[in-house]
Amino acid sequence: MYNDSDLKKLKGHISIGHNRYSTFGKDPDDHAQPVHYQESDLALAHNGNLPTVSKLVSFLHNRGISTAGLNDSELMYKAIEHWRVKGQTLSNSIKSSFELFTGAFSLLVMSKNELVAVRDSFGIRPLCLGRLNGSYVFSSETCALNAIGATYLRDVESGEMVIVNKDGLSSLKLSAGNTKLDVFEFIYFARPDSVLLGKSVYEVRKKLGEQLAKEFAPNADIIIPVPDSAIPAALGYSQQSKIPIEHALVKNRYIHRTFIKPSVKQRTSDVRMKLNLIESVVKNKSIILIDDSIVRGTTAKRLVELVRSAGAKELHLLISSPPVLYPDYYGIDTPKQIELISATRTLKNLTEYIGADTVYYLSFDGMVRAIGVNPKLLCMSCFDGNYPIDIGNNKKDIHKFDKKI
Ligand code: AMP
Repeated sequence: MYNDSDLKKLKGHISIGHNRYSTFGKDPDDHAQPVHYQESDLALAHNGNLPTVSKLVSFLHNRGISTAGLNDSELMYKAIEHWRVKGQTLSNSIKSSFELFTGAFSLLVMSKNELVAVRDSFGIRPLCLGRLNGSYVFSSETCALNAIGATYLRDVESGEMVIVNKDGLSSLKLSAGNTKLDVFEFIYFARPDSVLLGKSVYEVRKKLGEQLAKEFAPNADIIIPVPDSAIPAALGYSQQSKIPIEHALVKNRYIHRTFIKPSVKQRTSDVRMKLNLIESVVKNKSIILIDDSIVRGTTAKRLVELVRSAGAKELHLLISSPPVLYPDYYGIDTPKQIELISATRTLKNLTEYIGADTVYYLSFDGMVRAIGVNPKLLCMSCFDGNYPIDIGNNKKDIHKFDKKI
């Protein structure tokens, strides 16, 4: 945690940071970023995940560099640092290491006098470039540029390296690039006030809701969105179906993400802490509850229980994305396939387990239509199991469904 006086002490003309939670490891501070070692002026921030590091590890081992206990970001750091110690410039060190990195990475790497931004060949995670008072700034999402008053210039392209140093800005393609932005950025991950592939995330989420209403519209008195991420979809649903929205679920402002908590018990009690229901709104009403996704089913089950116990007459749970059937290996913290409730239960069984009258998921084709970008530009592995980048040994944990989603 930094406060104003910490920030005042920071001198220099280049900086990077990363607001990241640990997705594995024991301690919340495990894998805190940026990666930096005392003896070097190199620092690296990594958004994404490398599902397999075997190439990287053998490269380092063959050069006598220990990899014990290092995570994917730290291994990338070590490879880049190796070339720098050999006398290469920062950008050449990244260029020499690039093909060792198998996975999703939007990286910012800095030395004392150079800043380099680089994105994997598929551009799985977003990364954009902006301008502020004659300087260059990079951010995963465009909303951060707005926050500091910077102007958006463009996205860093898939497979592109952008270098900023005393000579200004230059760019080099490290691979041809074949953009496949993670579709889950549109569904849940990105902030609604960001723009991805030229599309406003907020507008896309509204369209997902509209599409949902075109596909499935049970009779109901009110729509209740699960805050915050499902609010735009619920709004789209409401405008299309003409059923009014009630913000009967209120989010506790003082607690953060429940999703990454280690035990199911802890996650369940955290959902209770996180969302409170205004009971008088739901009593004797037919309700459509809208969420953006079901992963383990913890949130859905708990919310359905809450709404039922407050006297709802009917309860339909509608999801503004298709069933998550496959784990993510590219930086979104979804669990193993056996923990994905839609992968392990039939719809009938899941509906009974959750306790709703109906559960309806947006169709895959409906999702693609609502997003409105060429589907070739999207990685939809969590829905269709087509992983564009090698997932290594994880393949053996995957059961591929042949049914069309
Ligand atoms: P679950 O409770 O495990 O079914 O997770 C679904 C809920 O968590 C939904 O309310 C989503 O908005 C939210 N969610 C979906 N994916 C993620 C994620 N990767 N990290 C945190 N929350 C998520």
